[in-house]
Amino acid sequence: MPTRDPKKVAIIGGGAAGFFSALTLSELDPDAEIHLFEKRNQWLSKVKISGGGRCNVTHHCFDPKTLSEKYPRGSKELRAAFHTWQPQDTIDWFAQRKVQLKAEADGRMFPTTDDSQTIINCFLEEARKSKIKLKKGHSIDGLRLNSDGSFLIKINGEDEVSYTAVCLALGSLKSTPLEHSLRKLGHSIESLAPSLFAFNVNDTRTYGLSGLSVPNAEVWVDSVKESQKGPLLITHRGMSGPAILKLSAWEARKLQEKNYHFDFSINWLADISESSIRETFENQRIENGKKTLKNTVLFDLSRRLWESFLAYANIAPETTWSQLSKKSLEALIKELTQGVYQAQGKTTNKEEFVTCGGVKRREINFKKMESKLVPNLYFAGECIDLDGITGGFNFQAAWTTGRIAGMAMSE
Ligand SMILES: Cc1cc2nc3c(=O)[nH]c(=O)nc-3n(C[C@H](O)[C@H](O)[C@H](O)COP(=O)(O)OP(=O)(O)OC[C@H]3O[C@@H](n4cnc5c(N)ncnc54)[C@H](O)[C@@H]3O)c2cc1C
Repeated sequence: MPTRDPKKVAIIGGGAAGFFSALTLSELDPDAEIHLFEKRNQWLSKVKISGGGRCNVTHHCFDPKTLSEKYPRGSKELRAAFHTWQPQDTIDWFAQRKVQLKAEADGRMFPTTDDSQTIINCFLEEARKSKIKLKKGHSIDGLRLNSDGSFLIKINGEDEVSYTAVCLALGSLKSTPLEHSLRKLGHSIESLAPSLFAFNVNDTRTYGLSGLSVPNAEVWVDSVKESQKGPLLITHRGMSGPAILKLSAWEARKLQEKNYHFDFSINWLADISESSIRETFENQRIENGKKTLKNTVLFDLSRRLWESFLAYANIAPETTWSQLSKKSLEALIKELTQGVYQAQGKTTNKEEFVTCGGVKRREINFKKMESKLVPNLYFAGECIDLDGITGGFNFQAAWTTGRIAGMAMSE
């Protein structure tokens, strides 16, 4: 009986997706010859800095449909993929390797050590136990197809080495020579745009309020219908926090088109209906008519924010509730529920940012993470046109796509 040559697989990119696909392949096919290439001299550099150094590994959400809704791009494809590998699988995988994850109140999951090095050590230890050949400081500068369907990859601009299969786990495709190789193989790339950024705002209403946050604001860009809700943080440069970051993710392309200069609105009291706000004000008039607006801070807002709204609505702080004119009342309600601000640029979020865009999803079979155009060419992680909002969803996409690619390569 003819014996088959063992597989020789190149996995390009020593980040989250690359490690996960390499470890999966090695687990399921211990005989496969696996070379994991990383151009830098450091493995898993994004894992290291992720989640402010704590690594937000995944999210405490175990329903594929709900989970998939956290991905502005790739939601449909990931929903099916999560049936193969989802956060519970990630948690179990790490637990089997003695890395416990814990969930925070907002659902983000971190190693109990609160240290991203725990995740890196786990991967390096697993790789050490396997036969994976780790090749850091190796930049892959070209990829082309042999006539027999195998691949030739160019390493550090020199040697061309042959592999039976290749998995691209390159992270953002920004200015990589492999983008050119991919195009030559017939693939197309969805244009790249940053996602998960804060808005730069220079507005008298927020002067001196840096560090102040509200628990549930609603934000929307005036020319776009969808709004996002969540905590909002005033920073020394403008506005950040989950509500802003989510908006930046969902509208990443439109905001790029506007060159990050646009008007957006904030409802600072997203939990309270406008009619309840009106009712609260009416009650103030009746019950506290002699009290000044300055001294009756409402809706659990911070005093400084309240005073800033009064000033912007042109209401003298000593005005009493009974003196408040209809026009001023309307101006105050407008400030609280639909204050308009101007974004003048963006600041990339230090905790987590991703690139949207990459290899077009429709050119990939998500059941295997294999190219529909080139057999035995696989993709995993951020180099694909998929990305999630903040909260551990981006790493989960890397684990899921890396796992599926590894499984498929082992077949
Ligand atoms: C500051 C920061 C914090 C983050 N925090 C979180 C978080 O807490 N939770 C979360 O879910 N997401 C987080 N993210 C997003 C997350 O890091 C990415 O979604 C994730 O790293 C994508 O994994 P990846 O393996 O696809 O790409 P990467 O992690 O970017 O890995 C790709 C690797 O490929 C290498 N490479 C590229 N080209 C070549 C080449 N030609 N040859 C050889 N090697 C190459 C790169 O050097 C890189 O190491 C954060 C991102 C940033 C920037």
